[in-house]
Amino acid sequence: MSYFDEATETLPREQLAALQLNKLQTMMTHLWNTNQFYTNKWQAARVHPSDIRSLVDLARLPLTRKGELMEDQASHGPFGTNLTYPLQAYLRMHQTSGTTGVPLKVFDTNESWDWWGRCWGHVLAGAGVTSSDRLFMAFAFGPFIGFWAAVEGARKIGALMIPGGGRDSQQRLEMMREAGATALCCTPSYALRMAEVAREIGFDIRSIPLKTTIHAGEPGASVPATKQRIEHTWAARCFDHAGASEVGAHSFECQLQPGGTHLIESEFIAEVIHPLTGEAVLPGHRGELVITNLGRWGFPVIRYCTGDLVQVNLQRCQCGRTSLRFEGGVLGRADDMVTVRGVNVFPGSVENLVRNFIEVDEFRITVNKVRQMDEMDIEVELCAGTDPELIHAIATKLDAMLAFRPRVRQVAHNALPRFEMKAKRFHVKLD
Ligand SMILES: [Zn+2]
Repeated sequence: MSYFDEATETLPREQLAALQLNKLQTMMTHLWNTNQFYTNKWQAARVHPSDIRSLVDLARLPLTRKGELMEDQASHGPFGTNLTYPLQAYLRMHQTSGTTGVPLKVFDTNESWDWWGRCWGHVLAGAGVTSSDRLFMAFAFGPFIGFWAAVEGARKIGALMIPGGGRDSQQRLEMMREAGATALCCTPSYALRMAEVAREIGFDIRSIPLKTTIHAGEPGASVPATKQRIEHTWAARCFDHAGASEVGAHSFECQLQPGGTHLIESEFIAEVIHPLTGEAVLPGHRGELVITNLGRWGFPVIRYCTGDLVQVNLQRCQCGRTSLRFEGGVLGRADDMVTVRGVNVFPGSVENLVRNFIEVDEFRITVNKVRQMDEMDIEVELCAGTDPELIHAIATKLDAMLAFRPRVRQVAHNALPRFEMKAKRFHVKLD
């Protein structure tokens, strides 16, 4: 079993909790009066760092929502007040991908960038990546933090990192073959896209000695059918990882792949709440992930509502890590759930079903909420030579799962968009 930091990864849970509490208290004391954003929030909530005497006291602190950070940057532009240090202390500015509006800027100091690298070290080591691996990053190295931090993780592990920015899919495939890439970092959608391009241009994907793929940016790598498809097309093991620009690289799949992702609990504290009431949700039940990062003092998030739906599993993993796991990884977005004809529909479960049909190259789901009459339309691209009757089989399977029959229709090849980052296959249209 490969660990990044075996001692902390296998700490008994009571000691892990003590470590978290100690880090939290030290950080909060440091932020008081230096970080204006959190000092203001805590003062308004009449809570002082010295009030936090156990992890149970964490619940006394106010939640932080993305909207507050956005508003803070808008009203104290351009960088906002969640900066613990003078600006010259910072090394990097990144911004969120902006899929939900104006991008949020995030900042890192030398220490916190090193912390990002350590967290990615956990992710890479967790997937069994070592210094003998050649790690290809199929990623546009732009303002989005994405795999930038994975570069630091590769350095911690000592793997050979090959940046694949500024290249199209064919060039990336050729680079990977020439360099003998053994590991690949990209979104799950893009792993499938590259495989599709390889097929179109007659490139033998098996000529790349790839063993491992590591994915982030979308929950797809924990969607069983998507994972299977990536593993089958690339003849490699596919690993999920989750993180966010505001939060850090927080969870990863270990080599045993017990059906979920480990949280790096020495660097993060997780809580799960009901997205509407804010009440704590017990392990084994689905709720919104609220996370506190412990190593980004220059731009911290404390009790941050991620909008990600998770379900905690506290059962000890056979890999020896004592950290909690998110059963099935990130299960979707709290605000992605839509109600169609009275049925709660999660895009992830529809994706899983559609991806089970290996003949489907790409798809798009649109929910039309017109005059209270909900309709769900699914457009699918089928591989060349597929019997078009297959769309009826897909509709029947969806009918059985959803208890209503969506409209499924075939569209021309390449009619639907392809994605390198943050695939958007689910749309809701209101009248
Ligand atoms: Zn494990």
